[in-house]
Amino acid sequence: MIDIKTNFSLCNFNSLQLDHVADYFCEVFNEQDCIEALEFAKEKQLQIQILGEGTNVVFSDDYQGLVIKVSLKGINSNEGLVSIASGESWHESVLWTLKKNLFGLENLSLIPGTVGAAPIQNIGAYGAEISSFIHSVKFLNLNTRKIEEFTNEECQFNYRNSIFKELKDYLILEVKLRLFKKENINISYKSLKDYMEAEGLDLSKATATQVCRCVCELRNTILPDPKKVPNAGSFFKNILITKDEYNDLREIIEVPYHQESKKMVKVSSAFLIEKAGWKGHAEDNVSVSDKHSLVFLSNGKATGKQVMLLADKIIKDVHQKFGVNLIIEPSVI
Ligand SMILES: Cc1cc2nc3c(=O)[nH]c(=O)nc-3n(C[C@H](O)[C@H](O)[C@H](O)COP(=O)(O)OP(=O)(O)OC[C@H]3O[C@@H](n4cnc5c(N)ncnc54)[C@H](O)[C@@H]3O)c2cc1C
Repeated sequence: MIDIKTNFSLCNFNSLQLDHVADYFCEVFNEQDCIEALEFAKEKQLQIQILGEGTNVVFSDDYQGLVIKVSLKGINSNEGLVSIASGESWHESVLWTLKKNLFGLENLSLIPGTVGAAPIQNIGAYGAEISSFIHSVKFLNLNTRKIEEFTNEECQFNYRNSIFKELKDYLILEVKLRLFKKENINISYKSLKDYMEAEGLDLSKATATQVCRCVCELRNTILPDPKKVPNAGSFFKNILITKDEYNDLREIIEVPYHQESKKMVKVSSAFLIEKAGWKGHAEDNVSVSDKHSLVFLSNGKATGKQVMLLADKIIKDVHQKFGVNLIIEPSVI
C-alpha cells in the first residue's frame, strides 16, 4: 500500500533545495506501487511528475499534481550484463560494478542521481557517456500500464539527449548495461589524463579503480557537493553548432571547441558565460559559481522563479553578445 502525502514540501527532494510544494507525493518501491500510484492519479485526475534524486530538475513553482519518487532497488549481473533497478544510486552502482570486476563506468563516477534518470539525458563526463554501455531500458508506459523495453538503438542517444526527452508518460523501471570483463580504461579526456600524470601514475598500467578515484577527486575540486551547497550541476548544455556557425562565432570570439562530427562542433557554454561576465554573479538568493560558470548555486532560500529569472538573463545576454542560444540542461517543471 503506497503512502500518499498531501501538501508535501519538495525542499529535500531537489538538489537546488527549492522549497516548492506538491499537492500529492508518494514513493514507489516496486511495480505494484507504481500501478497503485497511477490509479490514485487517475481517480483524482492528477498530472504526474516522476522524480529520481532531483539533481537535474528545477521546480519553477508549486506542483499541482502527484510527484512520484522512484525508489525501486536491486542490482545483479550475469556474464557482463548488469541489470539495475531505477531507484539505485548511480555512483553506488558504478562502485558495485568495479567490485565485481566489470569495467567501463569508471569515468562516470560520482555523477549524482539515480540509475533510472541516467539514460534520459545520456549522462556523460570525462570522455564517456552511458549510451556506450546501455543494452536496454525497461519502462512502464503510464498510459497503457504495459511494460516496454527499448534497445540501445531505440533509445536514440545523442549528446545529453535520448528518445526519453521526447516521450511523455513513462517510468523507467530498470536499466541493463553491457560492461567489459577486462579493464579497458579511457583516458582520452585531457584534464583527466593531466591529473593522472600529475598524480605520478604510470598511464600504461593505470587501472579502472585509479580512474574512478581520480575522476572523484577531480569532480570534488570543481563541482560543489549539492548536500552542502544547493545546485543542479551544469545549468546549460554545451552548444552544438555547425562548422559554418562556428566560423561566424570565431569572428566575435575565439572559443574552445570539440569536433563532434564532420559537420558539427561543440563549444564551451561555460567559456561564453564567463566571457559575458556572469561568473561569480549573485542576485536574489542565486549565484553563478565562481569556480564553474555553468553551475548555479542557491543560498538555500531561492525560489524556482528566481533561478529561472537568472537563467533567462544569461541566455539573452549570451545571445546578444555572441549570437548563440544556450539550452537549459535540467528539466524545468
Ligand atoms: C553536482 C552535480 C553534478 C552533475 N554532473 C553531471 C555530469 O557530470 N554529467 C551529467 O550528465 N549530469 C550531471 N549532473 C546532472 C544529474 O546528475 C543527472 O542528470 C542525473 O542523471 C539526474 O538523476 P536524478 O535521479 O537526480 O534525476 P531527477 O533530477 O530526479 O530527474 C531528472 C529528469 O528525469 C526524470 N526521471 C528521473 N527518474 C526517472 C524514472 N525512473 N523514470 C522516468 N523519468 C525519470 C524526471 O522526471 C526529470 O525529468 C550533475 C548534477 C549535479 C547536481
